Amino acid sequence: MVRAEPDPPKWGQDNAEPWIQALLPMPVERIAAAGGSVLLVGGDPGLVALRLNSAAVRVGLYAQKWWGAKPVLVDETLVALPWARLPDDLGAAKIMMQHLIDAAIVARKARFFTCERCELPRPPEWLHANRLGPKPCQMCGFDTP
Ligand SMILES: [Zn+2]
Repeated sequence: MVRAEPDPPKWGQDNAEPWIQALLPMPVERIAAAGGSVLLVGGDPGLVALRLNSAAVRVGLYAQKWWGAKPVLVDETLVALPWARLPDDLGAAKIMMQHLIDAAIVARKARFFTCERCELPRPPEWLHANRLGPKPCQMCGFDTP
């Protein structure tokens, strides 16, 4: 019995990145990573992080920790989607990706806290540490003498 080779997937890192980028919240930061993979971060503060490589696109929450004063991105992948699982049809592929991106954004925003000074929703890594009492964000916390 002869089994035909499957067709190569229509979508891959090179031809999908432009339209995937356009689905992300602005601004989009593009970081070329080791091994030819690409990291796309959407939003400021960051909301969603996508990692694209030759095999798959990984959709994850933007999550950041502090390494001293240096922000470090933490990998919180929600789903790793092999390129072959994206529909060939561009419209359907975009809708599918948009749902995955939106899911990551919802999960990320659910972690925000409300600053007790400026009363703005702020990402968890902006919580001003080393303080008792009210919870200010770093913008407000740094004003304190
Ligand atoms: Zn604040």
